[in-house]
Amino acid sequence: MNRPSTRTFQQRLSDGVMVGAEGYVFELERRGYVKAGPYVPEVILDAPDALRQLHREFLRAGSDVMVALTYYAHREKLRDVGRDGDLEEMNRHAVRIANEVAAEGGALVAGNICNTWCYDPANPETSGEVVRAQYREQLGWAVDEGVDFVISETNDFLGEALIGLEVCHELGLPAMVTLASVQPTTTYDGYDYVEACKTLADHGAAVVGLNCSRGPATMLPLLENIRAAVDIPIAAQPVPFRTDDATPGFESLTSEDGRRLFPLQLESSGHTRFEMADFAREAARIGVDYIGICCGGAPHYVRAMAEALGRETPASRYSPAIELHPVLGRSQSEVTQREMGDWTAVS
Ligand SMILES: [Zn+2]
Repeated sequence: MNRPSTRTFQQRLSDGVMVGAEGYVFELERRGYVKAGPYVPEVILDAPDALRQLHREFLRAGSDVMVALTYYAHREKLRDVGRDGDLEEMNRHAVRIANEVAAEGGALVAGNICNTWCYDPANPETSGEVVRAQYREQLGWAVDEGVDFVISETNDFLGEALIGLEVCHELGLPAMVTLASVQPTTTYDGYDYVEACKTLADHGAAVVGLNCSRGPATMLPLLENIRAAVDIPIAAQPVPFRTDDATPGFESLTSEDGRRLFPLQLESSGHTRFEMADFAREAARIGVDYIGICCGGAPHYVRAMAEALGRETPASRYSPAIELHPVLGRSQSEVTQREMGDWTAVS
C-alpha cells in the first residue's frame, strides 16, 4: 500500500527528533463534538469534517504524525454510549481520515490503542484476554486501512501495555508504548515507571515513554531516568498544565478553594505556549526522541514546540510578529506622538 510518507517510522526516528500532537478528545470536546465524561470519539462518524480540520491544524503546526482518533473507540467504551454497533465503522473511518490528512503533508500515520478499563491485575489471564480481543479487532482494522506504526498510550498497567505490544508484533507493526504516570512512582500494577519502560523495551517496543497525566515539571525528571535506563528512542507527551511534586498528575489539581479542576476547568492551571516551547527544548536536550503533547494540547502549542525544535512549519507563516502590533510594537514615545497627531514626524 502507498503510505502518505515515503519513510518508515524507524527511518523517521533515525532522522532526528519527531514532533507529535495529540489531545484530540479534549480539544474536540471544547469544540462541541465529543461528550465529556464518556469521552468516546463519536465525532469520527458524526462530524468527520471537524476531526479532519483538527488533524489539518496539527499537521500545519508541525506534527510529523497523524494519530488516528481511535482512543476509546474500543468495544467496552462504545457499549457505554450505546454505539457498539458502530465499532468497526468508527475505527476504519478514523484511520482513513488520518491517512487523508497525512497525505497533505507527508506525515506518518499512527494507529492508536489505549487503556481499556477492562484489565484487572488481580485476574490478568481472563481480563487480559478481553483486552487482547479488543486490541486485535481495533488494530486489525487499522492494518487494513493502513498505518505506519501504533501508539499504545495512557497505559495504567504494565500488564496491559505488554498485551498491546504483543498484538502489535502479531500484526508486524512497530509500537510506541507510553505509560500514564498518575501515581508518584509506579504503575497501577506496581511496577516502577522506569523499570516498566525497560521491560517494554526488552519486549521489543520501538519507542517507550510517558504520555498524559503529568505536566512538564513532573514529567521531565522521570524522563531523565528513563533515558538513562533504556537504549532505544523515548517519547514524551505531557499535558500542558502546572503539575508539581505534591500533585504529579493533572487529575488531582485543585483550585485555591479546593475544587477539582480535572477535566473541565483546568484553564487556570494551564501553561503558556512559551512554557511548552521550553519543555520541548529541554526534552530534546535530555535526549527525548518523540516530543508531543497530550490532553489540553492545541495547535498553537504544537507550533511553538516545533519551532523551538528548529522547525519552520506551514503555520509559521502566521507566527507572531508582535513588533507589528499597533500598540505593543512601537515605543511609547512614537505612540504618544501619533496620538498627538504628529505621526509624520516619526514615520
Ligand atoms: Zn491525555
